[in-house]
Amino acid sequence: MVHTGAVTVLVVGGGIAGLVHAIAARRAGHDVEVLEIRPDWAVAGWGLSLTGPALRALRAIDLADECLAAGAPIHRHRHHDSAGELRATTEPPSVLGPGQPTEVGIGRPALHRILRERAAAGGATLRTGLTVVEISAGAARLSDGTERTVDYLVGADGVRSRTRELLGLPGEPWFTGQMVWRALVDRPAWADDIHTFAGPAGTTGVIPISPTQAYVFLTEVTDVPGEVPDEELATRMRDLLAPFTGRFAAVRDAITEPGQVVRRPVQALLVEGPWHAGRGVLVGDAAHSPSPQMVSGAALAIEDAVVLADEIARHDELADAFTAYQDRRRERVRALLETSLEIGRREREGRHHEVHQLIGRGHAAMAAPI
Ligand SMILES: Cc1cc2nc3c(=O)[nH]c(=O)nc-3n(C[C@H](O)[C@H](O)[C@H](O)COP(=O)(O)OP(=O)(O)OC[C@H]3O[C@@H](n4cnc5c(N)ncnc54)[C@H](O)[C@@H]3O)c2cc1C
Repeated sequence: MVHTGAVTVLVVGGGIAGLVHAIAARRAGHDVEVLEIRPDWAVAGWGLSLTGPALRALRAIDLADECLAAGAPIHRHRHHDSAGELRATTEPPSVLGPGQPTEVGIGRPALHRILRERAAAGGATLRTGLTVVEISAGAARLSDGTERTVDYLVGADGVRSRTRELLGLPGEPWFTGQMVWRALVDRPAWADDIHTFAGPAGTTGVIPISPTQAYVFLTEVTDVPGEVPDEELATRMRDLLAPFTGRFAAVRDAITEPGQVVRRPVQALLVEGPWHAGRGVLVGDAAHSPSPQMVSGAALAIEDAVVLADEIARHDELADAFTAYQDRRRERVRALLETSLEIGRREREGRHHEVHQLIGRGHAAMAAPI
């Protein structure tokens, strides 16, 4: 980008996409400020799986090794029936190279800490309890009444993005008819890789996120995202997991405290039109949020953040950079989102045995270079 002075970047949202873009933009020498609306950096949710494509994008900004070291590197998926008998072992595509892990299970707090520390060490200014309330040509007004002059503004504020609204970009998330459950448990000695357990009513599984911790995932089919009182969360999750026996039973029975469990409605979104307006551009869940079946929302968010920085560096004009960014992202994101939604549809119809091929094809497509 041709500029007379330093490029000033304002990032709205201190989640995965926002922090990764802050790191990438600082590496390009820009002045970066990140605004996080929450009053502190506490992170909700236990863990997530960073797939090979996510690690590949993190490697481009020298972050993959740190994430692998902070989490539980994974090489294969072991698929069991609901009685805990091993039925198949699969290996996702090796995106990092032969012998390298295919993904990493990592605690959300650990991932966010790494991203935050790297962004701050790289010179980004990180602020909590702040957001943008008004965006005009080249300027933004913040919730504390101060103003910023910006060369470009990044909306990285998640699926319910307020920045999207402020930029006048249409996009409304919808409920997909599923709830996701996650429970933090002690890592069982056998949980060396991802272990899934498939029953007639659905699939659960155990994903290690550190030498001592793992999380259990479960997707529940429901027409309405009804509330479950906090004190009933552990009991309800155990009830949903009742059909799973064998080695899984001990994991299920270890879900005893409501504080171990998070339950969230699955929301999906794809902004169909441009992801940018004026000097503002969307990244991550603010632009597209897949349902979790392909465990790739964070991967897409990280890729967006890195590709955007790349295109900003390549183009003299901001509008050209934004267009090139979206052109590189649009079809890949759409394909992943449609695959995730199709898997969810089949799960809701009880066609669980039909999803494995789709998952395999989806991961193979995601292995293609970005
Ligand atoms: C239960 C669950 C499990 C998942 N598991 C996986 C997985 O295993 N692997 C995977 O790849 N993906 C997974 N995902 C998806 C993944 O979490 C998201 O795709 C990813 O977090 C998107 O990152 P983001 O930075 O775009 O948005 P977010 O993570 O939502 O971050 C947005 C940030 O912006 C802040 N913010 C919001 N509004 C404002 C505002 N107005 N101003 C300033 N800041 C604001 C928020 O507080 C937050 O910090 C999962 C999602 C869920 C719900």
